[in-house]
Amino acid sequence: MENFKHLLPAPPEVLAALLTPPLPPGEDRFRECKLCGEEWALPVGLEICPKCQMARTEAAMLRWRQEHRRGLLVQMGVPYRLLPPAEVAAWPQDPQHPDVEIQRWQGDPWCLTFQGAPGTGKSEMAVELAYAWLCRDLSLERVAWIRGAQLVGAALRREAPAARAYAAQLLILEDLGPGLNSGSVWSIVSELLAQRRDRQAPTIVTTSLSLTTLKSRNSRTAHCLTDGLICETKRAERTKRSRRKPQ
Ligand SMILES: [Zn+2]
Repeated sequence: MENFKHLLPAPPEVLAALLTPPLPPGEDRFRECKLCGEEWALPVGLEICPKCQMARTEAAMLRWRQEHRRGLLVQMGVPYRLLPPAEVAAWPQDPQHPDVEIQRWQGDPWCLTFQGAPGTGKSEMAVELAYAWLCRDLSLERVAWIRGAQLVGAALRREAPAARAYAAQLLILEDLGPGLNSGSVWSIVSELLAQRRDRQAPTIVTTSLSLTTLKSRNSRTAHCLTDGLICETKRAERTKRSRRKPQ
């Protein structure tokens, strides 16, 4: 299986904290942590307990993710046109699940499909959703962005993107439809989706095909997607590029 090149490198301050040599035993004594006030046997020179140090490290890593949007998205495989931040005017909803706040979706239910005409902001929403999740959850490390047609080509040649699509913690399967024009090609897609559904592995799908068309092309794929959320995107919800300077 391909190494995850997009596994995040640790920011320098995190490495420095990890590499600080432990002090010799006997120099520990019970003191109050400067931050939480709990009593700990802290080595001389250390004012903060391990729990608070960990919280600080995690906060630093999340901050690092907020400051490195562009690099993180490139590692995921997001195309250049989608790197600048986009503002979503209004998030669509799944009428079957009106209680689910789409912009906070984190894999429950396992799949989220943005379905709508080209130019309605499906891809932008998928990127913003994945990036927002990355910026609040350190346990999310392996995110892969793959176009439907690219996945099929790679699977047929037994190349890496297919393995990435199976192994990603969060997969964005972009533009399901174009380039998929035979039953055997659709079976590659449906097999991937069925396996991810069995593992409840979070997956975002974008497609301009209607559910009826998807059913007629490949009923197993449509069946998998209807097991998750289906959000129809419309012109009015079109996203616009933020004027903020991309990082
Ligand atoms: Zn503490």
